[in-house]
This record gives sequence, structure tokens and C-alpha cells, in this order.
Amino acid sequence: MKIICVGRNYAAHIDELGNIRPEAPVIFMKPDTAIAQSSLPFFIPEFSNDVHHEVEVLVKINRIGKHIQAKFAHKYYDQIGLGIDFTARDVQQELKAKGLPWEKAKAFDGSAIIGKWFDKSSLGDLGSLSFSLHNNSEVVQQANTSLMLWSVDELIEHISRFFTLKIGDIIFTGTPSGVGPVTKNDRLEGYLNQEKAFSLIVK
Ligand code: MG
Repeated sequence: MKIICVGRNYAAHIDELGNIRPEAPVIFMKPDTAIAQSSLPFFIPEFSNDVHHEVEVLVKINRIGKHIQAKFAHKYYDQIGLGIDFTARDVQQELKAKGLPWEKAKAFDGSAIIGKWFDKSSLGDLGSLSFSLHNNSEVVQQANTSLMLWSVDELIEHISRFFTLKIGDIIFTGTPSGVGPVTKNDRLEGYLNQEKAFSLIVK
């Protein structure tokens, strides 16, 4: 399986990092070794001093597809989740400045937190899901999928022009504003439509 991540899909997050609003979705990938074991804490990697949380809505692909039109994209998933795209921001800024790929900053072991899956039929309108990330019980990121620049179905259309989607692939749909550093002993909890999707400790 593969993890396809979307960058710069929320205007307020683009602004907070001083990035330019893209003309098409920004896409990168994480390997399956990036998936964190849910029983373990998240360990801050030794090569970074500035690891940021990025809470994101996730989509799990349930059919193989290529060149999927947005109007048919809803047939390719029936589970929605919430996770974290952990990012070594210091490493990423260095790579970006040199025009290099982001994988060292984004795709390292344990960088993909995948929470509980929810039936999409139980969530209501996917275009207006609320979600949030709490760090030590304080809300640090809070948003709604209505603020996405590209909807889930538009993302699937775009992604599947380049990459065949296969059963079990997961799409990270981009983070809203409020990203920030994590420190040892932080407890991060994610909520999708008020339901708890994950809880983890940083070590
Ligand atoms: Mg992200």
C-alpha cells in the first residue's frame, strides 16, 4: 500500500508557513514504514529539533482506479479517518530552500499516525466535517473540511491522473492552520466530528 499526502490544501495554513497558493494540489508520499504502531508512543527522531504536528482527514481507498473523475470518486472509498502527518519542519525548510524532495522531513519511520476509521455513511456531509487536535487538552488545530481548497473527490481525480489507486491506499488530505512543535510527554488527541479518533504520547 502507499500513503499519498496532499500539501497546501487549506488557505490559512499556506499563509502561516508563508507559502504560495498552488495552482494544483501539492502531492508527496510516505512509504508503509512511516506508519506508526498504535500501541507505541511517537518518538521524536534524533535528526530534528522541530517536529510539528499536522492533523489531517484521511481517506482509505477500497477499489483499484486510474483516471477517476471527481463525480465518480465517492465510489472509491467508504472509510474516513483522522491522523497526523508528523513533519520535521527544520529539515523540511532546509530541503525546500535547496529545492530538494521532502521525504527526509515527511516520510521517516513513525511519521504517519492513522487513527480509528469511521464509515463515511455515519459522518454525514464529507464537505463539512469538523475536526480538531488537542495537545495536553488544549485545542491547537481546529478546522472543517469545507475549508479545503480541493475536496476529497477533486483530490482523487487529480491524484489518479498520476498514480493508480489500489485497495488499502490512504490519502492524507492536508492540514489546516495551527501546526506547531511537539515536545516530550505531550499527549495528542484527535477528534473527528467530536468523536475521538486517536490518542498518543510523544517521547
Ligand atoms: Mg501535511
